[in-house]
Amino acid sequence: MNPLYPNVARRAGHRCEYCRAPEAVFNFPFEVEHILPKSRGGTDDEANLCLACRSCNLRKSDRIVAFDERSGEDVPLFQPRDQRWDDHFRVEDESGEIQGLTATGRATVRILELNHPLQLTARLLWIRLQFFP
Ligand SMILES: [Zn+2]
Repeated sequence: MNPLYPNVARRAGHRCEYCRAPEAVFNFPFEVEHILPKSRGGTDDEANLCLACRSCNLRKSDRIVAFDERSGEDVPLFQPRDQRWDDHFRVEDESGEIQGLTATGRATVRILELNHPLQLTARLLWIRLQFFP
């Protein structure tokens, strides 16, 4: 496990900083994710780290931008250290879908597949159990 996990997880409130999945309902710790990937010069400084669930970490991989269909441009992905989640996303109560409110939000939702059927099934259950949001 990453030695910085305890600090990163505490700072994140033990939630994925991309999809807000609650770590408490998983049977393994979430992952310490490099916002700017090490392959692109990112460091292990805590300002470059966030907590991510397996799904978000795998799908983000070494990406820092993604295509936003509405603006027709590559835009930066959501950056949990510099940006507020609520400024870029909102959760639809009925469907459990996460909607992107900005180009960054939309591109992040799409590339991380935040509304994948498996994500939605789990999120609706977490909502019912009051683990989400
Ligand atoms: Zn996630």
